[in-house]
Amino acid sequence: MANKKMYALGSNRSVIRDLFDYGQEQAKIVGRDHVFDFSIGNPTVPAPDCVPECVIDMEKTKSSLEINGYTAAAGDPSVRAGLADFMNKTYGAGVKGSDFYMTCGASASLAITLHALIEEEGEEIIINAPFFPEYTVFISNAGGKEVIIPADTEHFQLNLSALEEAISPKTRAVLINSPNNPSGAVYSPETIEALGKLLAKKSAELGHTIYLISDEPYREIIYDGLPIVYVPKYYKNTVICYSYSKSLSLPGNRIGYILVPEECDQHDELYAAVCGAGRALGYVCAPNLFQKVVLACLGKTSDVSIYDVNRKLIYNGLKELGYECVYPEGAFYLFVKAPDGNSIDFMNRAKKLNILIVATDTFGCPGYVRVSYCVDPEMIKRSLPYFKKLMESYK
Ligand code: PLP
Repeated sequence: MANKKMYALGSNRSVIRDLFDYGQEQAKIVGRDHVFDFSIGNPTVPAPDCVPECVIDMEKTKSSLEINGYTAAAGDPSVRAGLADFMNKTYGAGVKGSDFYMTCGASASLAITLHALIEEEGEEIIINAPFFPEYTVFISNAGGKEVIIPADTEHFQLNLSALEEAISPKTRAVLINSPNNPSGAVYSPETIEALGKLLAKKSAELGHTIYLISDEPYREIIYDGLPIVYVPKYYKNTVICYSYSKSLSLPGNRIGYILVPEECDQHDELYAAVCGAGRALGYVCAPNLFQKVVLACLGKTSDVSIYDVNRKLIYNGLKELGYECVYPEGAFYLFVKAPDGNSIDFMNRAKKLNILIVATDTFGCPGYVRVSYCVDPEMIKRSLPYFKKLMESYK
């Protein structure tokens, strides 16, 4: 028999992937234009020009070994030095190339970081609802136990008083994600500052460092001129888990990094543990070509203004139809309240109209659906009459 834990993970598929696959099949039957697939966060805005330019240039001018060979386990030193330079110029980060570990996207960054931090079975990682459902998989696989802070459904900011109460002698780290998947909320500098103060106070009380893991795949996808917060500025014991999946529209090419800033407590041990966890999990040497792409594209992103157009289309469209929606400040998700509070039924009713939206029960916040709007704006426009029918089904 196969490993039971892994069997359970492999056979209980994620709701998001199930809906996405259903949409692909349904498109063959009713036609692609009649399926409104808002299920998955797969960016439709093309990667910026620096991506194909770098790939073509590399293929033309470099040897196969330089493009396809192994890099150092932690990533190409020139790429990591370039990243450090960029972070120092942009955020005054004061980091070195040797503080970065290149990974296959945010999933790998999180899995590695959790393995590097959790020392003993059952140590606690605090996560804040609503959260990316895979967190629970990564935490449990690293031997940790998740402690869930219920969502603040009024503001969708961090619930700091609940978080303070949840901190125990077993707390190893707090995991945050802003801009947030699935709520679209962006934590303000004031919120992050207050969190930093709380974690410093509780670490001193407990006599051990509580680390902050900042999961930032949507860092640059932020609207209305809101500031991008460099989290370690407010709490020195922060490990950043970054990915280019969304900012450069490269989810299938699996590239991101872990940054363990210089000022972190036990920096050298923690960075070495990150290298060890990368090795143990088989995540050494992130894709070579895409490490070079990242270096060529420092400071560039896909055209975020297209997501802003979509955001207004879907938010205003659904509000006009009577849906209650959380105003999205970042990422590309709209959080919509189920008209009668039953999210699973809402998802299933929508599915009958070929609208694919995800019930948020597995995001730790039932009663809502997530509408992923990194899609063709024409699809949003075409979907609105069907969202109208969906609302009418409640009357
Ligand atoms: N964290 C969050 C909040 C996400 O939304 C995602 C992907 O959607 C990930 C991590 C995983 O990102 P990646 O595709 O880079 O592994």
